[in-house]
Amino acid sequence: MLKTFSIGGIHPAENKLSAGTAIQRLPIPSEVMIPLSQHIGAPAQPIVAVGDTVLTGQLIAQANGFVSANVHSSVSGKVTKIEEYTDGNGYKKTAIVIAVDGDEWDPSVDRSPGIKRDISLTPEEIVNKIGEMGIVGMGGATFPAKVKLSVKPGQCQVLIINGVECEPYLTADHQLMVEKGDEILIGIKVLMKALQVDKAIIGIENNKRDAIDHLSKLAASYPGISVQALKLKYPQGGEKQLIDACTGRQVASGALPISVGAVVQNIGTAYAIYEAVQKNKPLIERVVCVTGKPLQRPSNFIVRIGTPIRTVIEATGGIPADYGKVIGGGPMMGRALTNLEVPVIKGTSGILLMSKAESKRGEVSNCIRCAKCVSACPMGLEPYLISRLSEKLMWDECEVNKIADCIECGSCNYTCPSNRPLLDYIRMGKAKVMGIMRARAAAAKAAAESAQKQ
Ligand code: SF4
Ligand code: SF4
Repeated sequence: MLKTFSIGGIHPAENKLSAGTAIQRLPIPSEVMIPLSQHIGAPAQPIVAVGDTVLTGQLIAQANGFVSANVHSSVSGKVTKIEEYTDGNGYKKTAIVIAVDGDEWDPSVDRSPGIKRDISLTPEEIVNKIGEMGIVGMGGATFPAKVKLSVKPGQCQVLIINGVECEPYLTADHQLMVEKGDEILIGIKVLMKALQVDKAIIGIENNKRDAIDHLSKLAASYPGISVQALKLKYPQGGEKQLIDACTGRQVASGALPISVGAVVQNIGTAYAIYEAVQKNKPLIERVVCVTGKPLQRPSNFIVRIGTPIRTVIEATGGIPADYGKVIGGGPMMGRALTNLEVPVIKGTSGILLMSKAESKRGEVSNCIRCAKCVSACPMGLEPYLISRLSEKLMWDECEVNKIADCIECGSCNYTCPSNRPLLDYIRMGKAKVMGIMRARAAAAKAAAESAQKQ
């Protein structure tokens, strides 16, 4: 029997419209806008100025602290602006704007076509190289990969690779597994060496039989790596859900995967790590799935970071006149984009256009206490309750009821027969409570340090 995670979960319609569509390279645009903050943590610090010329792959902004990431130019050309812009979610961010002039690469990048199999770097050198090349989690979480790999020898017992891609519509990881199997497996070997672990499991949902068969065949030549076919269930790509599905281990509330000896990385991240460590190539491009029923040709593209979202959508045959909304990511966890001029960033796994009919929210009615949201929640929460507590600004009660454990999967919203906007309130409450928790931890740390000095 196929494995899956044990608590909650739902089965939304798959709608994988772009499945089986070969990855096409999108032409380089005439201008790119490269944000300094494409990752969880502090924004990077620019090291170029307006008027500078840069090469493709050149470092243009340096990580600003342990939880931060380097940013490289995805094109060659001239820096024309370093300015504030409003991102797709309405937040102010700073970006480096570059007018493109050809595509001249930094000579340190190995652009030879062959696959490089021998891994010559030491574990410590690998982790540093991954940091240097600006690699972040590419499933959408954008956590700097170096941070997750900074574990003590012996602490990690199993590396889990997330090839689940359980979000409806999205197919970027699926297609990458089909087209770049060897590179992904070498990337996994690199990760295993960095973590000093001899076991890796690639978890893939059973709707991607071609990827399961292809990687299983290749993995026979890579000792320690196995492929685990998983039963279809959303949100299996959540870290805790995937660890449960692949190993049966449960990560406690508030704990990290390493507490059960696991480290999880995404398939796209494993590929980026292959390129970073074996080819000295920074994270300057990624596979983006551009999909949705209103589009002429849902597609998988490889896109330079900084390319405007509008340009990427136009490449599918034009922007349809009658679409309802554009989502950055998939329909379950993605967020509606407020404008199409924003750039593709390291975490852009998908762009989804929804029709007007699909975009329309159902009429909200009273909670009927059916508990469907409770049964669906993969974190064992009570969504109807924490949503209500957040709506009433009752932050202490939200914290007690573990709102910070919410992985924002949207399963509760999906199941609610009363169309209650559960996730909107839960997201708001979670952000507020996590801010309170961070402030409390900082105050406690400051008090402890001051007591030590006395
Ligand atoms: S969004 Fe949060 S509360 Fe709702 S089902 Fe997912 S984890 Fe549970
Ligand atoms: S699913 Fe909706 S109606 Fe049912 S208990 Fe949850 S919030 Fe209430």
